[in-house]
Amino acid sequence: MIIVSACLAGINCNYEGGNKGNSKIVEMVNKGQAIPVCPEQLGGLITPRCPAEIKNGRLITKNNVDVTAEFQKGAEEVLNICKKYNCKKAILKSKSPSCGCGAIFNGEFTGTLIKGDGITTRLLKENHIEVISSDDI
Ligand code: SF4
Repeated sequence: MIIVSACLAGINCNYEGGNKGNSKIVEMVNKGQAIPVCPEQLGGLITPRCPAEIKNGRLITKNNVDVTAEFQKGAEEVLNICKKYNCKKAILKSKSPSCGCGAIFNGEFTGTLIKGDGITTRLLKENHIEVISSDDI
């Protein structure tokens, strides 16, 4: 069983209330091969929500609210689901401050990418779960 970002599975959970459905991911979920999760919703954030980026190790929304605790809780909930279902692999949405893998925005809301992982990706990697970016599938 693998974990996938819920927005890739066509679930309207992203900050705009939309999704980034990917036909391969949708098929995996429909076949019961993948579990869709949205860490930002699992952390208690509403949808739609103000976008956030990582700056100086904190999660700050575009209107300057610190939502680090919610993002951290969401990451921990995803890790709990991985442990419960013995998932060793995840395919997560690129560039997200939660799900991004290898590249994230720089915290200035200018669309500028820097090297780095979202905080859910980081926690999963720290727990020896392989994370693949949606850009690489
Ligand atoms: Fe998609 Fe992850 Fe953002 Fe949720 S937190 S909308 S799953 S990229």
